Amino acid sequence: MAPRIETYDVVVIGAGPVGLLVSVCLSRWGYKIKHIDNRPVPTATGRADGIQPRTLELLQNLGLKRKIMAYDPARVHEVAFWDPAPGGKIVRTGTYPSCPSFIDARYPFTALLHQGLIERVMIDDLAKTDTHIERPATITRFETNNADPNYPVEVDLKNLDSNVTTTYRAKYLFSGEGARSFVREQLKVQIRHKDPISYVWGVMDGVLRTNFPDIKMKCTIHSEHGSIMVIPRENNMVRLYIQIASSTDPDFNPRKTATVEEVQHAAQKIFQPYTCDWDKVEWYSVYPIGQGLADKYTLDHRVFMGGDVCHTHSPKAGQGMNTAFHDAVNFAWKIHHVESGLASRSILETYESERRAVAEMLLDFDNKYAALFSKTQSGATGEEAEKANQAFVDLFKANCEFTSGFGVAYAPNIFNYSPEQSLPSLPSAIKSLIISQDKHKLRPGRVMPNSNVTRVVDANTVHLENEIPFNGSFRLFVYGGSSSSPRHGQHPLLSSLSDNLLKAGSFYSRYMHKNQQHLDTHHDSNNPHSPFFSVALTICAKRPEIEIEELPELFQAYRDRVYADDLSSPLVPNAKYASHAKVGLIPEDKGEDAEGAVVVVRPDGHLAIAVKLTEGPETVQALEAYFSQFLKHGDWDGKSGSSRDFHSKQTDTRLGGGAAYVRSLL
Ligand SMILES: Cc1cc2nc3c(=O)[nH]c(=O)nc-3n(C[C@H](O)[C@H](O)[C@H](O)COP(=O)(O)OP(=O)(O)OC[C@H]3O[C@@H](n4cnc5c(N)ncnc54)[C@H](O)[C@@H]3O)c2cc1C
Repeated sequence: MAPRIETYDVVVIGAGPVGLLVSVCLSRWGYKIKHIDNRPVPTATGRADGIQPRTLELLQNLGLKRKIMAYDPARVHEVAFWDPAPGGKIVRTGTYPSCPSFIDARYPFTALLHQGLIERVMIDDLAKTDTHIERPATITRFETNNADPNYPVEVDLKNLDSNVTTTYRAKYLFSGEGARSFVREQLKVQIRHKDPISYVWGVMDGVLRTNFPDIKMKCTIHSEHGSIMVIPRENNMVRLYIQIASSTDPDFNPRKTATVEEVQHAAQKIFQPYTCDWDKVEWYSVYPIGQGLADKYTLDHRVFMGGDVCHTHSPKAGQGMNTAFHDAVNFAWKIHHVESGLASRSILETYESERRAVAEMLLDFDNKYAALFSKTQSGATGEEAEKANQAFVDLFKANCEFTSGFGVAYAPNIFNYSPEQSLPSLPSAIKSLIISQDKHKLRPGRVMPNSNVTRVVDANTVHLENEIPFNGSFRLFVYGGSSSSPRHGQHPLLSSLSDNLLKAGSFYSRYMHKNQQHLDTHHDSNNPHSPFFSVALTICAKRPEIEIEELPELFQAYRDRVYADDLSSPLVPNAKYASHAKVGLIPEDKGEDAEGAVVVVRPDGHLAIAVKLTEGPETVQALEAYFSQFLKHGDWDGKSGSSRDFHSKQTDTRLGGGAAYVRSLL
């Protein structure tokens, strides 16, 4: 008898940032993951190090930020620009915030910590769900052959210690192999180079003894002797990036390298008149980089790729790991929604369309940034060099929003509402309730604006946008508006919303736990009714004025997710209800009249659609039309996904038990 082939929900290749975060998300939601990496040990030093403001928010939402910050990363708040000065010296010509105040970021800095420590936090998290990374192991073959329709992908993995190759079957294969990818090669997916120019970079992490005043800041230094980028790091360390070669050099050699001593000597010359001696070098690497973008992120919606497999660029803007993280979460929640029976398979198309467009923007920016850095690299002085330096600074400033991660705006699609493209057959009376993205801060595809509110149950000041964790659910942020009093029986808008959402057949009630009456969801603040929807209610009132028992039925189940909009914000100083104003529900951010709305936020924190509250069924009708674009029709029986033989694992209900949790309850 042929040996039984082991089956998995997802096989993940590569334990870098993208692979690890895919595994973390899906393991938490109860999926069975086979995860391998070809290196015998996790990253010990070096490689990527910059965590951008938006990624910090995401990590906070995932419950991982605190563990990363416990390593005490350097925090970059400002960038200093240094340029050549007479006598072969350098002079600071300006500074600029790394995340300027016009970007409404909760954490307006870049945290710098080596990739290995960040990976360690995720590896520890995986251990909690019993997912382990097999090392050293590699992939030697894969095909989507449908030999088992429930596990259509066949994968051969070879343990590099024992040389034993084992065949597995999976629902999906995810390649997070980094820039050199076996999977991408086998699929014959082309990498298009944005620019034929490629670069060789030297990167050195260590402890510097110097009197250079900005050694704890991020700096770009252009001097007569060349250019360097300085990045502060944890434990008094500094990273220096130095461009060793560019294909625009007349004698370009992609294999050109430089020794540690050569880079140190070059740095000493560039830092003049400041001293520059090394107490310790922790990591040094020379690596060639081209600006490449994969044509496809998947061919069959079974084998997917993400992270550096799909996009490579220079390290200067600190984007590689960040882009990888956002690829991972975008992939994970969509797979979860398909496999748990919520959404149709067609949603998987949006992984490539959304994430490839972001990578394309990144490459455009990086292309210009790298070219200008190279121009200023030559050590030239004079008017032309000054112009190039200025252009470099201008480009940096103009792209702060994008590099912080807040500039990402997913284009209209089934998830991101657009008045022109979405829901064409919706009656205009209902469509008019959908908040127009031109006038409002609620722009579908962008990140939900942040705000502070007071949690009613415990009077704590909390970050509203982070209250619902990354639990795979759509988040329905309900803003009560100023016409709905918190007093008993005086909230017709909220009553109507509650009644219509709980009505049999609504999108909300169709996906409720089937044996709701037998479930003890008293302590489940996020998913008391359904694994796919979480609700948070913000009311225009002082906290002591709100009694949870007086709220309509729906909100009583979310007792820990009811908030008072009673805190001021310097960004909307004239608004009585700052949280409503920050999402544009108070005209001109002034006065006391706030509109009520349901703001639907995707599991990854990007805005989906916002609909005004009405006293009738229209609000829920508009939401119904939105969700009907991708929800599976008919009653959800908790088993209607393709995962009939779902692997049940212990999951953390605080993070939304996800499919396995729900199935275990059915
Ligand atoms: C040497 C080096 C230096 C770098 N330096 C910097 C830097 O200074 N600054 C910066 O911003 N970025 C740097 N990067 C890039 C940065 O590390 C990536 O952008 C980021 O880590 C992207 O994450 P990822 O998960 O997509 O890929 P990676 O972090 O590259 O992870 C891929 C993982 O997959 C494993 N793997 C590959 N092929 C297979 C296979 N067939 N089977 C099993 N496992 C496989 C690899 O060993 C690796 O662990 C560097 C990359 C490298 C390789």
